[in-house]
Amino acid sequence: MKRVIGKLNPTEKNVNIWGAGFSGLIIGYYLKQKGYRVTIYERSAKIGGKIGTKKTAAGPIEIGANALYMNSDAMDLLKELRLEPMPAAKKLRRLLLLNGKPKRPLQLALLTKLTLNGHRKPPLISEGLSVADFFRPLIGSENISKFISPILGGIYASPAEQLHFKSVFSDFSHQAQFDSYWEFSKVMIRNQKLKPKLDVAGSVSFEGGMQTLINRLGETLRTEIKLNYKEAFRIKGNTILCTDAGTAAELLSELRPEMSTELRRIRYQELTSATVFLKREIRSLHHAFGVLIPLETGFNSIGVINNKAIFPANNENVYSYTFIARKKCTNEDILADVKALYGEFVPEDVDFIDNTYWEKALPVYDLQRYLSVKKLHQLAQAGDNIAIFGNYAAGISLREMISAARSFALSPLDYKESP
Ligand SMILES: Cc1cc2nc3c(=O)[nH]c(=O)nc-3n(C[C@H](O)[C@H](O)[C@H](O)COP(=O)(O)OP(=O)(O)OC[C@H]3O[C@@H](n4cnc5c(N)ncnc54)[C@H](O)[C@@H]3O)c2cc1C
Repeated sequence: MKRVIGKLNPTEKNVNIWGAGFSGLIIGYYLKQKGYRVTIYERSAKIGGKIGTKKTAAGPIEIGANALYMNSDAMDLLKELRLEPMPAAKKLRRLLLLNGKPKRPLQLALLTKLTLNGHRKPPLISEGLSVADFFRPLIGSENISKFISPILGGIYASPAEQLHFKSVFSDFSHQAQFDSYWEFSKVMIRNQKLKPKLDVAGSVSFEGGMQTLINRLGETLRTEIKLNYKEAFRIKGNTILCTDAGTAAELLSELRPEMSTELRRIRYQELTSATVFLKREIRSLHHAFGVLIPLETGFNSIGVINNKAIFPANNENVYSYTFIARKKCTNEDILADVKALYGEFVPEDVDFIDNTYWEKALPVYDLQRYLSVKKLHQLAQAGDNIAIFGNYAAGISLREMISAARSFALSPLDYKESP
């Protein structure tokens, strides 16, 4: 599916972008390069939206995204921005909480299921198929909650029952039926091998954290960004909405009521992102990227990121951990999880804790989102000077937004949607 909804009007060189989060900045950046006159209207007092690094006496804190996962477009962008990526440390252990302890995910029980059931025929990849439906015949419901949900939850923050297969495994959106799970995994490996080799792979941050990417994008964009912009929305010249879907629905409620209705149907997951600075290391997370936590464990968090292990240069002299929870959490809620992981915990071990709550943190990549985005493409096809962009249409991660914005800027007048 195309990842920017709508197209630009060829006779108009002005582009007005609403929202200076990553989607607004990146699409503005590429359109400016193609000679468009870009103005960005931002409601808040700063650019970056859900990306930003707070400097505290204890150390840096990412308020939202903590890394950029690389692809070839992200690589090219960093070169253009003359921005040196700071790659994540190599060979860190990726852990999953099993029976109350962080462990490696490939456990015997799971491997046995994969071996015994790999010959089975997976369900047809139909429009309504969920990720859980696809993997259930292979590993069973219990293992979906134990393994698949937390692993995908690390990206989508939603359980496998909610996640829409074609949206999450978009490489397979036209592949209707596999003969076996073996065949499916072979195609997955082949697709992975076909992707271009990168000088820097995996996830990266920057000296100064993710804020450096936002700042550099803002500077290089050299365009007018109107911060604290509170005037009424209007369609003037080419207009691109780069807010969350709910806000886009409000902005379009009178001007494009049908689009507004579809945008309103896209659901969001709330999240708390809390960073804790400890005086001592959490031993069970030694040399680990972090730990993913299944929903049914009694923990408040669904995952912990070990900032010091991943980006040591940005986290010298501190043990910094970011806890992500699927609800609004107090510092005490987060400290209960710290305690459960830490073993002999005493309150004096905590240097500092900081907590950011996002009411609309991430769009839920469920069937409803897929259907609404599909409908929005149909509604936009009539020909218009409005485009809609953001992580609910372009893909949830920053790299997908980079690729989507780049390819849109190459042909912003061309709009043939083929879902
Ligand atoms: C806790 C957390 C961790 C994450 N980790 C990662 C990660 O490690 N890697 C990764 O790739 N992705 C990650 N993501 C996802 C990524 O951060 C988001 O997908 C991305 O930042 C969203 O960008 P956006 O521009 O679509 O939306 P937003 O960042 O929400 O930006 C929307 C902007 O629109 C503005 N706005 C709203 N209403 C109006 C209005 N009426 N007029 C003008 N402006 C308006 C807002 O103020 C905001 O600046 C994470 C997200 C969260 C919440």
